Amino acid sequence: MTHYISTRGGVAPQGFTDVLLQGLAPDGGLYIPEEFPQLDMGQLRSMAGVPYADIAYMVTSSFIGNDIAPATYKAILKDVYQNSFDHACVAPLVQIGPNSWIMELFHGPTLAFKDYALQLLGRLFDHVLEQKGQRVTIVGATSGDTGSAAIEACKGCKNIDIFILHPEGRTSEVQRRQMTTVEAPNVHNIALKGTFDDCQNMVKAMFNDKKFRDDINMSAVNSINWARIMAQIVYYVSASVALGGPSRKVSFAVPTGNFGNVYAAYCARQMGLPVKRLIIGSNRNDILTRFFETGTMKTNVVEPSLSPSMDIQISSNFERYLCDLLDRDTEGIKKLMKGFKDKGSFSIGAEHMARAHKEFDAHRCSDNQTHQMMRACYKETGYILDPHTAVGLYAGSQVREDPSVPLVALACAHPAKFPDAVEKAIGIRPPLPPHLADLYDRPEFVMPLPNDLAKVQDFVRSNIEK
Ligand SMILES: *Cc1c(COP(=O)(O)O)cnc(C)c1O
Repeated sequence: MTHYISTRGGVAPQGFTDVLLQGLAPDGGLYIPEEFPQLDMGQLRSMAGVPYADIAYMVTSSFIGNDIAPATYKAILKDVYQNSFDHACVAPLVQIGPNSWIMELFHGPTLAFKDYALQLLGRLFDHVLEQKGQRVTIVGATSGDTGSAAIEACKGCKNIDIFILHPEGRTSEVQRRQMTTVEAPNVHNIALKGTFDDCQNMVKAMFNDKKFRDDINMSAVNSINWARIMAQIVYYVSASVALGGPSRKVSFAVPTGNFGNVYAAYCARQMGLPVKRLIIGSNRNDILTRFFETGTMKTNVVEPSLSPSMDIQISSNFERYLCDLLDRDTEGIKKLMKGFKDKGSFSIGAEHMARAHKEFDAHRCSDNQTHQMMRACYKETGYILDPHTAVGLYAGSQVREDPSVPLVALACAHPAKFPDAVEKAIGIRPPLPPHLADLYDRPEFVMPLPNDLAKVQDFVRSNIEK
C-alpha cells in the first residue's frame, strides 16, 4: 500500500485518508506517493473493453490500500462513474483526424473535467467523515469552474457544509447559474462585492482565524488534493487501452493551468503506461511554456484570455513534478519555493532541463490562434471545440512528429460553457446538454455580502448544520 510524503520533506509518511482530509501538507508542501505503484503489461491488457469504474478500481486501489475497505471503494466508484456521468463510456474518444482524437471530459454534472475527480472526492470525504464521526465545513473561492464542480460534488453529502464565494457580477452567467441554482440545505453561495482576489483573501482570512477555523472544522477543496490527481490518472489509462495500449504508445495534449491534469498524465506514465509525448498547452498566461523555454519559472500579471480557467500565473501542482525532477531533494525544493515566494522566480540547471524536455513539450496559443483552431476544426470535421480544448489541440498540432502515434487532445470543457467564445469563432451558439437545458429558467439561491470578514463569518456560523 502506498504512503505519501511531502514535497518539502517535513512530514512523516501518511496514509491515504490522512492525505485526503489534510489536502496541503502541514509543512506547506504537497503530498506525493513515496513510490508509484506499477501497472504491468498484463494488467493493462486486461483493461481493454472494461467499464470505466472497473478501470478506476484497477488503477487507483493501490493508492488507497486498506484505508477504505475494497468492497466499499468499489461500490463508491460504481456509484460515481455509473450515475453521475451522462455517457456510457464516461470519457469517450471522438476521432477528428487520421490518428487524432478528442477525449471528452465534459460528461459530468458541470460540463468540465473537474467533475471526474471532484465527484469521487466528495463521496470519499463523506465516507471517511462518517466513519470518524466528524463533520466539516468547506469554504472556497471560485472564479468559475471549480466552484460549481465542488458544489455538485458536495450537495448530497451528509457530513459536509459547503460555502462558495464568487465575485459578484464577475463570473459568466452559465458559471454563476451552475452554482446558484443548486438547491440543497448544505450548499451556500455567497456573491461577494469585490474581485476574485478579494474572495480568495476572504477565505484565507477565515482560515487564519484559528478559533473560527476550529469552531466550524474548516476544510478546503483545492486543486492540490492528492485524491484529485489520483482520480485523473484513470482517464489517461482508459484512453490508452482503448487505442491499443499498452502495445502502442499514445501522446496527450493537455490545456494546462494549475498543472494538475497534465501531472496526472505524468503519474500514469510513472506507473508504467506507455506514453510518447506529454504536451502542455498554455494561453497568453504562459508561465509554464516560458519555463520550458528558459529554465526559469517567473510569475507575471494575470491577463484575461478566451480560456479563463487557465488564467493563472502560479501552477501549484508543478511542485510535485519538480520534486521528481530534482530526484526528491526536498531541501532543494524548499529553497526553490522560498525563492519563488520571495522573488517571484526560480531557475533550474541545464541538466535537469534536458530531462524535463524529454518528459514534456509546451506551447502557447494566443486568443487569435485559439479562434483559428476552433474554426479549422469545425470546418474540417464539424466538431465544436471549447476554447480550452482548442489551446491543447493547437499545442498538440505544433509537436507531432510521428503520425503513427495517436494524439489524444483532452476536451476539458463542453463548448456550451463558453458560448460567447464559440459563437465568435464559428458563428454558432452551442446549446446546453439536456440535463442543463432549463438552466436559465431555474431559481437562484445566493447571498450577496459585503467584503467584510465579520459579516461573512457570521453568515457561515449561522448557516452550518449543528
Ligand atoms: C481547470 C481547467 C483547466 C486547467 O487544468 P489544470 O489541472 O489546472 O492544469 C483547463 N481547462 C478547463 C476547462 C478547466 O476547467
